[in-house]
Amino acid sequence: MLKCDTHTHSLYSRHAYSTIEENVREAAAQGLELLAITDHFSDMLYPEVHIKHFQYLFNQATLPEVWYGVRLLHGCEADIVDLDGHLFGHHIPVTENIVGMKYKHIQDLDEFICSKMNFVIASIHGKSFTAEASLAQTTEMYIKAMDNRKVLILGHIGRSGIPFELDPVLLAAKEKHKLIELNEHSFDKSSPDAIKRCRAIALRCGELGVPVSVASDAHISCKIGRFDQVAQVLEEIHFPQELIASRDKASFLSAMEAAGISP
Ligand SMILES: [Zn+2]
Ligand SMILES: [Zn+2]
Repeated sequence: MLKCDTHTHSLYSRHAYSTIEENVREAAAQGLELLAITDHFSDMLYPEVHIKHFQYLFNQATLPEVWYGVRLLHGCEADIVDLDGHLFGHHIPVTENIVGMKYKHIQDLDEFICSKMNFVIASIHGKSFTAEASLAQTTEMYIKAMDNRKVLILGHIGRSGIPFELDPVLLAAKEKHKLIELNEHSFDKSSPDAIKRCRAIALRCGELGVPVSVASDAHISCKIGRFDQVAQVLEEIHFPQELIASRDKASFLSAMEAAGISP
């Protein structure tokens, strides 16, 4: 019943174990219509930041639009790095290309990478910058992250463990035509508290009419297209089908169109 996997990782993410082709073949075997490749765009990958490290991300236009019958979208999962909701790469200028030619027009790395993506998932991994933040600030942080034009999805807000006010974030997502992620991986090894938060988020999205995106967050091909735990929660809470933007290819592409970022 869920025909898209909108958050998946390949070998590029360094702590993931499959190639893109292995992921796509598995997506086809699972009967998926659409697969998004969303490797990490984050300081967790390399000890230093250099444009050469990111060519794997920004050359993804090389990928076929359809492979093994599956529509591919290329994106990334970008870290939110400050309380203003900026993404990794903010204030890091890209001054030269991968062969050392200087750019005349200098962009920040976040802008440079986001411009090459079909869409971006904004998530929090390293959260030390939120340590002293008030609830109002973390709430604002998530809302501002959605102001980035290419950010379509707020990733695993239940598992990240940053306290924030749920309703304002969900209502902002609805207003900005962005999606809240329901992430299968969050149900795997998370604490009972995190699982409770994920359920509460799903329930509230249903009540407020906020569209969601269900994803595996697979870090190995055998997890692609597996959403059993999220699907069970959605069934238990009688979640409205029409709010699941990732239910099929057409609905996900129209959610992208509503957000103003048709691929
Ligand atoms: Zn990861
Ligand atoms: Zn993540």
